[in-house]
Amino acid sequence: MNSTGDSAGLGSLDEIASSLQGYDPQALPALEVLKFLEQLVKPINETESVGIFQALGRVLACDVISPISVPAHDNSAMDGFAFDGSALMAGQPLALRVVGTALAGKAWQGSVEPGQCVKIMTGAIMPAGLDTVAPQELCQITGVQVLLPAGLLRAGDNRRFCGEDLMAGRPALQQGTVVSAAACGLLASLGLPQVQVMRRLKVAYFSTGDEILSLGQAPREGAVYDSNRYTVFGMLHNLGCEMIDMGVVRDEPALLQQAFVLAAQTADAIITSGGVSVGEADFTKAMMKKLGDVVFWKIAMRPGRPMAVGRLTQEGKSAVLFGLPGNPVAVMVTFLAFVKPALLRMMGSTQTAPLLMRARSQEVLRKKPGRTEYQRGIVSRNAQDELQVVSTGNQGSGVLSSMVQANGLIVLQHTQSSIQIGDWVDVLML
Ligand code: AMP
Ligand code: MG
Repeated sequence: MNSTGDSAGLGSLDEIASSLQGYDPQALPALEVLKFLEQLVKPINETESVGIFQALGRVLACDVISPISVPAHDNSAMDGFAFDGSALMAGQPLALRVVGTALAGKAWQGSVEPGQCVKIMTGAIMPAGLDTVAPQELCQITGVQVLLPAGLLRAGDNRRFCGEDLMAGRPALQQGTVVSAAACGLLASLGLPQVQVMRRLKVAYFSTGDEILSLGQAPREGAVYDSNRYTVFGMLHNLGCEMIDMGVVRDEPALLQQAFVLAAQTADAIITSGGVSVGEADFTKAMMKKLGDVVFWKIAMRPGRPMAVGRLTQEGKSAVLFGLPGNPVAVMVTFLAFVKPALLRMMGSTQTAPLLMRARSQEVLRKKPGRTEYQRGIVSRNAQDELQVVSTGNQGSGVLSSMVQANGLIVLQHTQSSIQIGDWVDVLML
């Protein structure tokens, strides 16, 4: 593994804040949150070489330059007869005599005279001097005589060019690409068994709150089972992060301090849930403040208003902190809207913004301008084959079942007001 830097961002939080117009920590628009985070985090800059199977889902650390052209030769796109296309005459059939066969993987070496053709299979190298393939099913074949009826082909038809997929010496994949199944196949098509990727991002996460029960603990009045650690686990897993699960941390300064210090020493990013809202009687906020450079926001959004963001530094090693609210839906929404793009940026990905689609609202959605709302929605197709969306019933920020039913988040943007039936709305597919 080679290392050229740590995960620290650029300026201090104050510097970042003062570079943003309209920065108001007490009513921060979602767009400003994204701009802030873009400055807070930078790519981790540590790479490693991995085998092609391990590369799936990882971020490419540099451009992959094609060592070869794919295909390596001009070749046939069809089973048929290869001939010299300049022999085609408008309005006239073409008679050809078969003088050999070119198989895929076994080129035909002979020479071809005018009036002759070579039987050729899909993928076989085009014989020298021939540029056109008459598909078998278009031809009348009698022994070695082939008749191509008039008007069916133009010169050059059914030939694939050398390098038409990938040209030797050109970038086949770009730095910052997340390696997909298709990209794995493409790497293999170039004969590359190894590829240079960013190292996995290490993310430590824990839940806070004295009322939070771990699985296996007996229920007690006023307590709730920890669900946030499991939704965060799932979302981090989908991103391909290396996860450090630190459990539930009770609301005691010594325990919180221990957890934050350990997380800052071992991880690139720390995600906590709970304890960041106004009037919280607990020690979480105080500990974040004590150990790092941290801001506490009220974001102009619903759900998920409170959020803490900053940097914890321990023994010269720094980690980005995302202190998410406690409510289970708010955790998922703030993660998807803000944390995920920031983590992708840290991972070295160049595609960090979620792709929003547009769907017609199937109902009236009440909305005040001046905040971004994320409603849980079910997206489907209507009779006109357009996307349509209906919200899942109860939109309370603790109602996790609404997240389970939803296949998308309806994003009602900051300046938007109420939505009428049939209006287009943005949706972020889950
Ligand atoms: P807080 O932000 O700490 O005020 O928490 C807001 C709400 O979310 C409270 O009802 C908490 O009980 C709940 N909550 C906090 N953390 C979790 C968690 N890890 N799992 C489930 N619910 C939680
Ligand atoms: Mg709490």
